[in-house]
Amino acid sequence: MRQGFYKLTGVVLKRHETNEGDIRLYNLFRDYGPQWILAPGAARGRRRFGGATEPLIWGHFGCYKSPKQLYLRDIEVKEDHWKIRSNPDKLERAMVWTNLLTKYLLPLQPCNEVMAIFYDSLCLLERDIDESMIEWRFLYRWMKRWGLAPELIRCASCGKEVTTAYWDGDVVFCEECRSNTDELIIPKEELREMVFAFTLPRESLVRWIQRVELRANYVVYNRKLRDILRLSLA
Ligand SMILES: [Zn+2]
Repeated sequence: MRQGFYKLTGVVLKRHETNEGDIRLYNLFRDYGPQWILAPGAARGRRRFGGATEPLIWGHFGCYKSPKQLYLRDIEVKEDHWKIRSNPDKLERAMVWTNLLTKYLLPLQPCNEVMAIFYDSLCLLERDIDESMIEWRFLYRWMKRWGLAPELIRCASCGKEVTTAYWDGDVVFCEECRSNTDELIIPKEELREMVFAFTLPRESLVRWIQRVELRANYVVYNRKLRDILRLSLA
């Protein structure tokens, strides 16, 4: 990034106030990836940016890039996700996601597709939809982009279409190829539902969810995905 003025589109992942009264934001920017941005003195006296420096705020960030730092000049808020930020449970869930993004996205590396997946998940989180299922969609789509998500439709060993799935570590096997008895067994209907949950476009998902009763235990599956993420990127 060269020295000069920029208008960056992005979202606040983390917000930190220093003892000196500065605000430091860790933002995910389109085309520029995650990076720190400094607003000197913004936490003192009349707070210059109001609530616009809170996590989950999306907008256009006017910045100045000096040789050493990126400075915040102004923010034009496009989306504040108030329905999430005003609901403690939803906010906690979204913060789990921002923490994962902060931890695993490489600073200064553009990752627009993960940013779009994150945005999609926040839009769903605003609605009255099972939060664990949305988290499954978020993690699976992100990890699929990065080639880390286990293939769920075809067996990792023989390549045949899986009916009942046997999830072992970071791969899924069919009935014939399953290796031991410790795998997580996913019945056919659940597997179908899990695939729908990450493949359907957002609006179709919202309609689909009103017609079905969710069966899959996403809490368990999300934990498995997070384990893969941790082990792959450690
Ligand atoms: Zn097989």
